[in-house]
Amino acid sequence: MQYTVAMKRVIAIAMQKGGVGKTTTAVNLAASLAATKRRVLLLDLDPQGNATMGSGIDKAQLERSTCEVLLGECDLAAALVPVKLPTEHGGFTLLPANQDLTAAEVRLLTLPIGRETKLRQALQPKRNDFDVVLIDCPPALNMLTVNALVAADSVLIPMQCEYYALEGLTALLDTVEQIRVAANPKLGIEGVLRTMFDPRNNLANEVSAQLIAHFGDKVFRTVIPRNVRLAEAPSFGRPALFHDKESRGALAYLALAGEMIRREEEASSAARIDGMAAANALQGVTPQAAAAHKVAGTASQAPGSAQNAASGAQNAASGAQNAATATQNVTSGASNAATGAQNAATGSTAVHSLSDHAHADEHAERVVPHAATGTDGGAVYAASPGHGEAVQHPAGNAAGEDRSR
Ligand code: ADP
Ligand code: MG
Repeated sequence: MQYTVAMKRVIAIAMQKGGVGKTTTAVNLAASLAATKRRVLLLDLDPQGNATMGSGIDKAQLERSTCEVLLGECDLAAALVPVKLPTEHGGFTLLPANQDLTAAEVRLLTLPIGRETKLRQALQPKRNDFDVVLIDCPPALNMLTVNALVAADSVLIPMQCEYYALEGLTALLDTVEQIRVAANPKLGIEGVLRTMFDPRNNLANEVSAQLIAHFGDKVFRTVIPRNVRLAEAPSFGRPALFHDKESRGALAYLALAGEMIRREEEASSAARIDGMAAANALQGVTPQAAAAHKVAGTASQAPGSAQNAASGAQNAASGAQNAATATQNVTSGASNAATGAQNAATGSTAVHSLSDHAHADEHAERVVPHAATGTDGGAVYAASPGHGEAVQHPAGNAAGEDRSR
């Protein structure tokens, strides 16, 4: 494997409101992460089976599905199906679902104990076979969603930036808090994802600003635009990346995967430095520890002082935060273009089956002119190629529709 950070996480994609982009996010993020060579498992926890169909698996033909797994009638491993994608890295794995899952939910509700932990238990034996597990939740705060939240490490919340969006958010966050208290204290917020975004809509921009004010850097910088390719890809039974890989929708989900991976890398290097600082504080700095600081390139100026090591860690963390804030100031259309360019190296490299940066840069430049010339109908900013810095451009095609890409 070539990547250094595995992103070991179970992520529930949840929001009880229907039609906000949960399934679209689940399928396209699964494909994008798979394109970066992560081993991805997608669990369809919605009786509508949209993630199943969107992955090209016929929900009417399932022998085993999430239903049997939750009821303990079969092992998770026995119900998994491979989703083959036309890349050299092979695609991802799916636990498919169909309407039988509604009956499973009713049966779960009759169980006297353990009904919230069925998914967690079922997942346990296969957990280490995957880098990332994504769970596509149903549009309700029901027992299925509760099972997902109990099994998850974090929740990814897709939000359409519209008037009633924030109402649903409060109820979801309350549920997350209850699950934390009752069953899963480590459950975190992976991030809030703005979906179907139209930067020309004032209300969308207002709601977006409120989200950032409330959630700060928990709001993904990547914004998913409203894009017809994302809407039509499921009818072909494939993620947008393999329907039109250069569509704005496909690029946005690649950018999201890139952003998640980058966050993970930042968190793990901050944790590594933190860990060293803590060890030093406990033990006093040994010669080995001092050498380790040097190797890790921390700001530990005076070996022997645990405080220095700690501030080194803090500097690293705030460096990362600065980078985050710099791009957060950019408005949504921009952040999409910026992250598109920034992350092309992560995502498109894998998609194009190339590991050389030259090609990724070429790809990044292909993304940018779209935004800069306004052919995407919305982006008013673009990234400067290769640097990922946001620079302002005059509004492009402000009245433009979401054209083919
Ligand atoms: P949920 O799973 O939250 O109910 P979906 O992902 O199924 O939401 O999305 C609802 C509808 O909106 C679907 O028809 C989907 O194809 C469409 N859709 C989702 N995201 C986008 C987008 N970014 N641009 C255009 N259409 C979208
Ligand atoms: Mg759905």
